[in-house]
Amino acid sequence: MATRGVRDGPWTDLDAELVGRATRDAARLARESARHSPGTVVLGRPLAELEALMAELGEPRYRAAQLRTAVLSGARALEEVATLPRALRARLREAGVRTGRSRVHGRRQAADGTIKLLLQLADGRVVESVGIPSRDGRRLTACVSSQVGCPMRCTFCATGKGGFARNLLPHEIVDQVLAVGEAVHASPDGPRRVSHVVFMGMGEPLLNLPSVVEALRLLREELGLGGRALTLSTVGVPGALRQLAARRLQATLAVSLHAPTQELRERIVPSARAYPLDALMHDCDRYFAYDWVKGCRVVWL
Ligand code: SF4
Repeated sequence: MATRGVRDGPWTDLDAELVGRATRDAARLARESARHSPGTVVLGRPLAELEALMAELGEPRYRAAQLRTAVLSGARALEEVATLPRALRARLREAGVRTGRSRVHGRRQAADGTIKLLLQLADGRVVESVGIPSRDGRRLTACVSSQVGCPMRCTFCATGKGGFARNLLPHEIVDQVLAVGEAVHASPDGPRRVSHVVFMGMGEPLLNLPSVVEALRLLREELGLGGRALTLSTVGVPGALRQLAARRLQATLAVSLHAPTQELRERIVPSARAYPLDALMHDCDRYFAYDWVKGCRVVWL
């Protein structure tokens, strides 16, 4: 479904159709990942599902916790899970189990310690993630992608010019956070742990809400990040703020306006034609009026 060589210009019915496809693809992914056999991908699987998998293999329950801990601690392949017997690793492999970790395809580091990673997913596609250490060394922010490509076509954005390929699964988002932490860990002076996550990489996160919301849950529950350390950035997707409200998002929302007027905004963010500034601001007002949202921060960009 990838579209290549997208051109600048006004928002059209074809663009709206591509955005609709991205949203439908996200819903399909959520349905299909719920149907996957338990434990196929270890990263992000509930412990109870991994225990069920071990029981099917006639193994004690504690093997599930060992496997999960090893993957969260950096094991990229089953061969690296030294706490499991070799024979069990082989049986897991035969059963189609994989860690869910990506391969580091490329890595560049700037003088200020910022690290850019290209991560190759299981289907060979590549996404970009960035690790940004603070100057005082106390914070490490991971900037993660939520889609391979993006159908929104913002004129200043290289990702938007490449078109949309597919949505990411929850474990493919969490994997980026682990990869950033590991990459910075490998450098001598940087902070050792990701302290903040911003969804400002490739993709519009509100087009892939099921995976993004599940990834946020995993980041809170599996990696111990607080809601105030998590930020979703959006240029605005019609109807998405209502869905966020229904899911009681526990994260900062960053609304990327990019321009003070509808006319200028449409030139920079063509999708604004289908979701005018007035409508976006009206939806934001309604969203921010919820009591539980008042405890979360809102950022305008
Ligand atoms: S929504 Fe984000 S990723 Fe997509 S084109 Fe706009 S700036 Fe780029």
